[in-house]
Amino acid sequence: MTVRAVTIVGGGFSGASAAIQLARHAPPRLDITVIEPRPDVGRGLAYSSDDPDHRLNGTAGTHLVDPADPEEFTRWCAQERIVRADPDALARGGALFVRRSDFGRFVAQAFAREVERRPALRLRHLRDEAIDATLETQGVSATTRGGSRVPGDVLVIATGNAPSRFPLTLPADVAAHPSVIAEPWDLRRLRAVDAAARVLVLGTGLTALDVITTLLRRGHCGRITAVSPRALRPRAHRPAFDLPPALAAAGMLQRIDGSLAPFVRELAQPMQATTLMRALRARIAQARVQGESWYGPFDEFRDPLWRVWSALDARVKARLLRHARRWYDVHRFRAPPQNDAIVNEAERQGRVLIGPAKVSSIARAGDGTLVVELQEGRTRRVHTEAFDAIVNCTGLDGRGGATTNPMLASLTRQGRLVPDVTGIGFAVDAQCRPIGQDGTRTDRLRVIGPPTAGTFGDPLGAIFIAAQIRRMLPGIFA
Ligand SMILES: Cc1cc2nc3c(=O)[nH]c(=O)nc-3n(C[C@H](O)[C@H](O)[C@H](O)COP(=O)(O)OP(=O)(O)OC[C@H]3O[C@@H](n4cnc5c(N)ncnc54)[C@H](O)[C@@H]3O)c2cc1C
Repeated sequence: MTVRAVTIVGGGFSGASAAIQLARHAPPRLDITVIEPRPDVGRGLAYSSDDPDHRLNGTAGTHLVDPADPEEFTRWCAQERIVRADPDALARGGALFVRRSDFGRFVAQAFAREVERRPALRLRHLRDEAIDATLETQGVSATTRGGSRVPGDVLVIATGNAPSRFPLTLPADVAAHPSVIAEPWDLRRLRAVDAAARVLVLGTGLTALDVITTLLRRGHCGRITAVSPRALRPRAHRPAFDLPPALAAAGMLQRIDGSLAPFVRELAQPMQATTLMRALRARIAQARVQGESWYGPFDEFRDPLWRVWSALDARVKARLLRHARRWYDVHRFRAPPQNDAIVNEAERQGRVLIGPAKVSSIARAGDGTLVVELQEGRTRRVHTEAFDAIVNCTGLDGRGGATTNPMLASLTRQGRLVPDVTGIGFAVDAQCRPIGQDGTRTDRLRVIGPPTAGTFGDPLGAIFIAAQIRRMLPGIFA
């Protein structure tokens, strides 16, 4: 198949990284169109927040947009004098945890530079939403809400994270309450919450830390309560002085795609969930005996996880998701030290309470108060508590938007996209080609980033997505 035009649907980090890598490393006469309704290509959901306290959850040195240039972002931070503009970015020990808005700006600028470098229309941003895609004999075309038809030879689905959903069905009057916030990134509504409000945050992960930080930095004086079934919180990053240099992007890329650590090599074959977890825990225990922390062995496992995960049987994956995911997530998604410190201090002062509980019902009283029935984690004791605002931080919809995103819904109806057996995103093969209802796959479609997490385990962080794209690109032109 001769590829002259690639259409990328979604211009968040994944779509931007795909476009930038194509523009830099694919044949120069290729036409690339990114369809994205937001004003910039590169920010997406993750890097659109304008809250100055919403920071990257890893150091600047581990973030990149093109694996061929692992230090591009670090150089950009120096050129932009990020530390001068944002001294708080420098954490204890010297590691740089920059604002997510700055990373978004970096990616958007990298994309804009590639647009400038190319002859007119060879790389363009079509500010629109794709609502349908059709495979034709000669190619694949996308239809947009604005009425455009974009023909191409290959269509890359980079639609990312589907919006969050409340973990329980809400009565209509509760759902319509102005301070019941289903989408935690709706900062306009979050900022409108009264400073004295009693706030219930559902979830205790990184999103909850961001939301609590936003409220506290705005001078919130009402009590903030955050709950999740086990109240597991993201682990803090290790102090930077403890970081081996190999943990920077180049070292991570080496682990993602290079040779596997000996204990991971043993895990990269079909095995039972318990065997895998036992081996990982044993490796961590061994590190501890040698005076090392869990970070090293955990990262040796996390970075090449796509190779371990692909070898596992569907039932084993289901067991791991059921029993090990929470543990994995709190070690994997680490809190930026700045947010960790802000929330810890407020907790110490009694302004923030974090505890194990599940919400069983929410009702709205006549005066607008939200009456919440909470079942405590260990005791299962049920009690009722009153709040003025509720913010849902239970995570994004892992199904990847198969029902809510019109283009994905259409491709699902056409049998081109099928939910992955894990229930996360879509089934794809090693080349990121979706596996259709009849088991066939076409070279004309590719899916990248979070909607492939069911197949690859953890293509969720920027560096993992960029590496996934690098592995996929040669196959498009083969
Ligand atoms: C809040 C948050 C913070 C994060 N922080 C970090 C971090 O610090 N470091 C890290 O490595 N990873 C982080 N991540 C992980 C993140 O998933 C990836 O880094 C990456 O941003 C995912 O990018 P994406 O483009 O796939 O998804 P998204 O950011 O969700 O972007 C998808 C884009 O697709 C567009 N789109 C969807 N459907 C259509 C359509 N039909 N037509 C046109 N456009 C469409 C949307 O408008 C959106 O802009 C974070 C994730 C979140 C949610």
